[in-house]
Amino acid sequence: MNGFTLIFLSFLLTTTVIHLWLAGRQRSNALRHRHQVPEPFHDQISLAVHRKAADYTSAKMRFEQADTIVGALLVLGWTLGGGLNVLAGWWTNSGWGAIAAGTALMISALLLMALLDMPMNVYRTFVVEAKFGFNRTTPALYLTDTLKQGFIFLLLGTPLIALLLWLITHAGARWWLYGWIVWEIFTLTLIWLYPTLIAPLFNRFLPLQDEALRARIINLLQRCGFASGGIFVMDGSKRSQHGNAYFTGFGAHKRIVFFDTLLKSLQPDEIEAVLAHELGHFKHGHVRKRLVLMALVSLAAFALLGTLIDAEWFRAGLGVQHSSHAGALLLFLLVTPYFSAVLQPLSSYWMRKHEFEADDFAAAQTDAHNLIHALVKLYEENAASLTPDRLYSAYHDSHPPAPVRISHLTAKLAAQSAP
Ligand SMILES: [Zn+2]
Repeated sequence: MNGFTLIFLSFLLTTTVIHLWLAGRQRSNALRHRHQVPEPFHDQISLAVHRKAADYTSAKMRFEQADTIVGALLVLGWTLGGGLNVLAGWWTNSGWGAIAAGTALMISALLLMALLDMPMNVYRTFVVEAKFGFNRTTPALYLTDTLKQGFIFLLLGTPLIALLLWLITHAGARWWLYGWIVWEIFTLTLIWLYPTLIAPLFNRFLPLQDEALRARIINLLQRCGFASGGIFVMDGSKRSQHGNAYFTGFGAHKRIVFFDTLLKSLQPDEIEAVLAHELGHFKHGHVRKRLVLMALVSLAAFALLGTLIDAEWFRAGLGVQHSSHAGALLLFLLVTPYFSAVLQPLSSYWMRKHEFEADDFAAAQTDAHNLIHALVKLYEENAASLTPDRLYSAYHDSHPPAPVRISHLTAKLAAQSAP
């Protein structure tokens, strides 16, 4: 225990209290307006659907609060509670070389963390989501998914961790710069290979069959000057009723992926509008901007790690006596989220700004009415709250809430029709 212990505890407490408070606000706001569909949605959404959205929001917020508390307790258990100290001591005494023991420490700790997170995940999937009819995952599918993820993590994580630990020991004072370069090469390769190598391990991707829809989409792509590596339908309904559409990959390998659930619920012109929105993200270079920002954030994190990796006060202040690079790395992963939480509203704001830009693009390329209809349907089917709390949304939401997004589009339409 030292001065840093107190700093860490105050950040942990503040972040936890803020998260609990915001979720409480979101929940009570949904319940307060449960009995009346808000004005702009009167004609499109029934009271029964609106009530379901309020109840779903309430259940999700209750879960989020429990998850916040469990998460904070687990971090305390790993750090000041001595969990990591015990595990580090065990591997230190294993007689293995420093890098092998360090890699084993990190792998075992990360696997244990995932295992300890599992009860909450299981509860979310099989209780919260199931209660509102969204879950489609069977226990058998959940188990095979978990095993596959664990296997991929071991396969990719082990060499990466070993290489990083080797750099820390052997690459001198600038190790963090080389570590960052390794990290960037690793993540970019992963993003590049994900659509063709990893995603098919979990879902089936079939080329879009519907000829009329296909022709419509290709027409839109040509209009927008967009080259794609194929249009695919993913069996999202295997796990959940929630629908989505997205792009993956780089350059000419970009794939357009529709969830089968989305295709089932939207009309062709609405699907076109949703795709135009996604194209807007590309036209505005949002994906590239996010990758650059993530690279800069990782660079800052690696630079910070460069000073923390051998700092006695950091390790001791968080309850680990055994001096090891792997232990310091794990502590860094565990505690930084509580310090970086202050940046969350900024990141959310930036993401929402991108959503508005993509909506504007879609409104220019297609009829904005179609996007509005699609959004109403999607918000309805996902049981998203139509009465979100302003502060909760400002902090957490990467997408503007339904009323905000739709009134933005309506204003756009009014401006277009004005002389
Ligand atoms: Zn978007």
